[in-house]
Amino acid sequence: MTVRIAFDMDGVLADFAAAIRRVESRLFGTPSTVAAETPEDEAEHEEAQAAHAANAGARSREARSRHDAVWNAIHNTVDFWTTLAPLDPHAVRRIHEMMLRHRWEVFFITQRPATQGQTVQRQTQQWLSQQGFDLPSVLVIGGSRGAAAAALRLDFHVDDSPQHCLDVACDSRARALLIVPEPDAVTENSAKRLRIGVARSIGEALEELEQKASGSQPTGILSRLSQIVDWR
Ligand SMILES: [Mg+2]
Repeated sequence: MTVRIAFDMDGVLADFAAAIRRVESRLFGTPSTVAAETPEDEAEHEEAQAAHAANAGARSREARSRHDAVWNAIHNTVDFWTTLAPLDPHAVRRIHEMMLRHRWEVFFITQRPATQGQTVQRQTQQWLSQQGFDLPSVLVIGGSRGAAAAALRLDFHVDDSPQHCLDVACDSRARALLIVPEPDAVTENSAKRLRIGVARSIGEALEELEQKASGSQPTGILSRLSQIVDWR
């Protein structure tokens, strides 16, 4: 049976937090709460604004204008999503190698807002292939990740958003794996209660997947050695 695995992009593979901090520092000198936002927050905010033209939101006027300036700069950067640094320079290549070795089917799911240049799907595909994954399946979708996980008949979904993992755990038969970079007892305990796996990094998540999603464990010194060589 083919195992199907999906990976979220920002906060899992791509370092969006560093990129938005850089944009805000360039414009304002210091990063603020804008730097803590995610692309999903912004995509949903923009959709809500399109639906209700005069959406004031809960932010103060200053915070709102800062937020708008930062996101305008992002929207106006040609192919912004191809410029992000990877969170782990080996992770994408490692997913590619595991995909081939275990015959996994892999999807990359994102809800990034559009920017100047190519479509979000194509920017994301280019980034992934630069990082070592040829022919990536990229899905740009809003709404519940649970519905997507069910429709794609996923077995595993890796995400840094507790809400996305909750959606996946509730609305699909996929096992969600949450990345929590810093120790956070409240989040980790509630995740475990909901049978959501927790990993500190994408590297740790991949080790977990290797154990859970590979039919048979590699045995023998040669296959272990080939793994070490491949992953260097
Ligand atoms: Mg994310």
